[in-house]
Amino acid sequence: MDINATKAKYAEERQKRLRPDGNAQYIRLADNFERYLDDPYVQVQPREAKTDHVDVAFVGGGFAGLVTGARLAEQGISDYRIVEKGGDFGGTWYWNRYPGAMCDTASMIYMPLLEETGYMPREKYARAPEILEHCRRIANQYKLYDKALFHTCVTELRWQEDSAVWLVETDRGDAFTAQFVIVGTGPLHVPKLPGIPGIETFKGHSFHTSRWDYNYTGGDAGGAPMEGLADKKVALIGTGATAVQCVPHLAAACEKFYVCQRTPSSVDVRSNTPMDTDWYREETKDPGWQQRWMENFTRTMTGTSNDVDLVQDGWTDLARRFRSKLSRLPPQERGDIVKMMAAYEESDFEKMDEIRARVDEVVSDAETADKLKAWYRQLCKRPCFHDEYLQSFNRPSTELLDTNGKGVERITEKGVVVDGVEYSVDCIVYATGFEIGTDLAERAGFDTIGRGGLKLSEYWEKGMRTLHGVSVHNFPNAFRVQFTQGANFIANVPHNIVESARTIAMVIKYARSKGYQTIEASRDAEDAWLELLSGSVQMIADPSCTPGYYNNEGQPLPESAAANVGHPAGAMAYFQFIDEWRESGKFEGMDVG
Ligand code: NDP
Repeated sequence: MDINATKAKYAEERQKRLRPDGNAQYIRLADNFERYLDDPYVQVQPREAKTDHVDVAFVGGGFAGLVTGARLAEQGISDYRIVEKGGDFGGTWYWNRYPGAMCDTASMIYMPLLEETGYMPREKYARAPEILEHCRRIANQYKLYDKALFHTCVTELRWQEDSAVWLVETDRGDAFTAQFVIVGTGPLHVPKLPGIPGIETFKGHSFHTSRWDYNYTGGDAGGAPMEGLADKKVALIGTGATAVQCVPHLAAACEKFYVCQRTPSSVDVRSNTPMDTDWYREETKDPGWQQRWMENFTRTMTGTSNDVDLVQDGWTDLARRFRSKLSRLPPQERGDIVKMMAAYEESDFEKMDEIRARVDEVVSDAETADKLKAWYRQLCKRPCFHDEYLQSFNRPSTELLDTNGKGVERITEKGVVVDGVEYSVDCIVYATGFEIGTDLAERAGFDTIGRGGLKLSEYWEKGMRTLHGVSVHNFPNAFRVQFTQGANFIANVPHNIVESARTIAMVIKYARSKGYQTIEASRDAEDAWLELLSGSVQMIADPSCTPGYYNNEGQPLPESAAANVGHPAGAMAYFQFIDEWRESGKFEGMDVG
């Protein structure tokens, strides 16, 4: 392989896609496109506003809210309220019911609390309906349903200095208080549309993949055929991880199907398999198995282990290849960062070459195959895994409208325009992802106002500040379930969630058992934590990558982004550290009152 030629091709393809407006190219649905946010799954039910008091309020009913609820219940704390914008639990899995939705991370490490619920996933990679069902299982087991306010968005969290409680206000008129508040809304929960000229003029039907309109398409999230599309021409905009999963279903259902592509995804082999019951029973017979599996995956992915790779999937394949390259370096070169980076680069180039070769093997039309090849390093964009995506382009009804990196030119009353040609369609489906680079408080829909009226958005103006990624000075009794300034581990976010949930539940239990009214990160401890993190490097946001949400659409990162890092010694070092910190029972760095 000619690495220099490949690098030149990567740079050329990146250059085509760079645009000065970066994140501003997207449309916020909250600004005049609210109808795309309507819940197509569950009707909003009228209810009385809450004006009472609870011990703990949680913002978000996805994995974070569920697992934290479970951990609090285990600590004997049951006066817990979850405020959730969807009509049920599940978060991302509540909203994303598009056909073919499933998780790329192995179910045994991705689905939380398998051990506690005794549930065995049906396949190596779980499909969305099974994950949503599991969310409901957790909620039922830990009696979280009667603690939930669905179809409710928090509008403000405000610390009440006199009474030492939080006032929680919502868009349903609630104004209740809580001794503790926890925010766990996830990173990708606000859908966005592309700012394509003329988008508002389209007269046909349209929706975003995270609000799938089965009333229009027919079929269901369980995979029933979408008979409503048999006489329809449909354009799908976007070819990211979501599109890769729903394309095969649309290709099978539509009379005519156009896939509008700006940047191809890298699509590796999926190889899903049913779970072998006997094997599963044996593998999971010892207590603590899921923690062991999660840790094994994290260690394998972060290169901190030579143990056997339990998960054996497309993610760990990357790590295994890198290690194998490293092991071929002469011993004296193994600690040399330049040589190590070169080995990493080589394994990446080889992997991407295989992925491009796979396109040629699968797609019959050579020109289409060429356009479906991804020319960037694998972690520049979310790697995808699928065994039917590329095959869809062999169907006569499916046509790839490649935009040569420019995006759809225009949307008209009738359809989409690509390279000067108008394609008339009945329906446009937007697989264009979620807000990420937008203002945090705007994206969340609320600000958190701590001591002395200090807004979190102001406190974080120059960059995020936390202790352990979990608590923030000046914001007493408030916690966050998220990964930045913690393990920062993104290949299996539930690992971050289970650890944060355990930490927060133990801090709350400690404060309550000691009779403290408040507990919060001290400024000194926060400073010391940030000092430690200053030794970390940004793992993603590689500016040489093709633009996307991983690297701020190829635009320079704001100065504040320097704080978006994890523990300098890696994810497992963080998990070990935080385990020792909470198990010590001292909760060092937390001020109490
Ligand atoms: P993405 O943001 O990854 O993809 C958006 C797509 O829209 C890209 O292909 C983008 O092209 C395209 N696009 C944007 N503007 C235009 C335009 N003007 N014309 C044409 N195309 C355009 O969103 P997804 O919903 O696919 O995925 C979001 C994330 O959700 C993933 O990264 C992943 O983390 C998660 N996910 C996880 C899954 C799993 O299995 N666990 C499955 C699905 C999603 P370009 O690339 O050029 O910007």
